[in-house]
Amino acid sequence: MKISPDSPWSAEKSRQLYAIDHWGADCFSINDKGQVCVLTDGRSGKIETPLAGIVQGLHERGYGLPVLLRFVDLLDASLARLHQGFARAIASQNYTNVYQGVFPVKVNQQRQVIEELVRIGKPLQTGFEAGSKAELALALANLPAPGLLILNGYKDRDFIDLGLWATRLGHRCFFVIESPDELTRLIARSKAFAIRPLIGVRTKVSARVGGLWTETSGDRSSFGLSPQQLLAALDQLKSARMLDCLQLLHCHLGSQIPDISDIRTGATEACRFYAALVAEGAPMGTIDFGGGLAVDYTGSGEAPDSRNYTLEDYCCTLIATIRSCLDPLQIEHPAIITESGRATVADSSVLLFNILGTMCFEADEESPVIPDDCCPQIHQLAELHNKLAQRDPGQAYQQALTCRDQLRNQFRAGLLDLRHRALAENLFLAVARKILQVIPVDAELPTELKGLRRNMADIYYGNFSVFQSLPDSWAIGQTFPLVPIDRHTEPPWREGMISDLTCDCDGKLDNFNLAGTRRPTLPLHPLRPGEDYILGVFLMGAYQETLGDLHNLFGDTHTLNVRITPDGQVDFQQEIAGDSINDLLSYVEYDPQQLSEKLRITAEKAVRTGKLTAEQRRYFLDFYRELLQGYSYFNHDPKEDHHDT
Ligand SMILES: *Cc1c(COP(=O)(O)O)cnc(C)c1O
Repeated sequence: MKISPDSPWSAEKSRQLYAIDHWGADCFSINDKGQVCVLTDGRSGKIETPLAGIVQGLHERGYGLPVLLRFVDLLDASLARLHQGFARAIASQNYTNVYQGVFPVKVNQQRQVIEELVRIGKPLQTGFEAGSKAELALALANLPAPGLLILNGYKDRDFIDLGLWATRLGHRCFFVIESPDELTRLIARSKAFAIRPLIGVRTKVSARVGGLWTETSGDRSSFGLSPQQLLAALDQLKSARMLDCLQLLHCHLGSQIPDISDIRTGATEACRFYAALVAEGAPMGTIDFGGGLAVDYTGSGEAPDSRNYTLEDYCCTLIATIRSCLDPLQIEHPAIITESGRATVADSSVLLFNILGTMCFEADEESPVIPDDCCPQIHQLAELHNKLAQRDPGQAYQQALTCRDQLRNQFRAGLLDLRHRALAENLFLAVARKILQVIPVDAELPTELKGLRRNMADIYYGNFSVFQSLPDSWAIGQTFPLVPIDRHTEPPWREGMISDLTCDCDGKLDNFNLAGTRRPTLPLHPLRPGEDYILGVFLMGAYQETLGDLHNLFGDTHTLNVRITPDGQVDFQQEIAGDSINDLLSYVEYDPQQLSEKLRITAEKAVRTGKLTAEQRRYFLDFYRELLQGYSYFNHDPKEDHHDT
């Protein structure tokens, strides 16, 4: 596909280009008006609600961008899909036990998410997985008893005590033993409480899985018991006469596992451990496969940001694996638990931010006049530009790079004046642009042209912080789908990378995936004066919110929970204003009142020395206090900028 300003374009072309029907299936689409829509259930079939309309509603309610939208309907739908997936696999394979989901709290601890999961999870008996005291504290208070709780992570005495209280309240609370000394502690505390706890053991599965989180798998994983430790734990339980408490086997192979065969291998090993524990006389009854169910962030089907299986494949594989290991041994089918976090919440959040401006690397003039007194390299560049059609693009680009570098060296040596330097840069850009125009946007570039797209890409300045809102994109190079939310009836003929508001060269998005090709830039539309250009980052509901940090003191964005009613009305259910500058300053231990007071003293001095009038002092201090109460992000009104220029 080649895209130019006058390419014929349609919503269908955008759907293909951005692969929205792959990664956004069931959740997002582009309508024929060229708007990205969220898909929810209506009275008769799916309804499409344009995000642009939701943004309009936000503006009317006084919220600026960036915002995080949480689509409650999508959360409901993905939880339901997970359960249906297992229900179908159980029915089709005559499996004789049940599936139970638990939500791992670490994936999104936000109150609105947890409360919604409690509400919609009630008929499905969704439980919680907690990996720390704080997570258990919030899960316990939210989960109606009797509920299912899985306690992972290292557990001190208080963590164990809180779990024992949960047991007393009537919850089915599994203490998953991660290390040998934890079991000693649990046995002692259970005796003190006179409670027989439900115990699970987390095994280390030696099979390593692929993907970005491969460290959690394999025998060097820092979690879980080795086979030797497992045996020691069995002995310890037996001698404490508590073997009957051992009722669950836990394994977690890692997150975002791209390859179903890794899942099968890991699950097989887990089933062998399960069978061994049954043989040792433990009652067992439940197998917990942890997380790992991947989200398709790119639609490519390839590692690491996509997956080579469907939800149905995942459910069927786990059940078939259990049957093939346990049926020959005549072991009863255990209840199945998964701790699918990412797959439950990723869909439901979308970050919307606006573009504040762009920087383009364009030649000012297509065919500048070359004065005779120019040095040979400038003539060479002009020649390349004129006769490009007859040249091999890769060679031509390499030659242009060489000329440009020589000219830059001459400038540094004082042998080239500013006018000629500018002419040289201009010619180089004209050559590079011409080469780029003959290459299809979805083509992988040959080695000689590597770097061309990156070098020529526009920079789009986005009103957001990568560190706050998309930390995994920065930390581990994860790809999230990013798409303009409107204008898909126009060709996106510019190529851009995104730079955020932080003054950090890592504060950027330059890792995209189009049609299975990784690339540093994304086709985008040119900005229109006086109009906001809004980009959406999709599938970012898992992990990003609490991993995000305050780099450059950009804080939490506004968060809005949105429900779409069955007749298509947008219901803003909960609104949480983002951090104010005051909030951010207090996170780093400043007292905003004290800051104002310090500034007041400086301003008062300025009045005494005649730099400010008393009235200016008042205005300034009012302005400062008001600014501290405001949003940390850019207050951008494109119309205002337009009038200025
Ligand atoms: C992180 C984690 C999960 C969640 O994994 P996902 O891939 O997000 O589903 C589940 N269980 C444990 C023990 C974890 O550490």
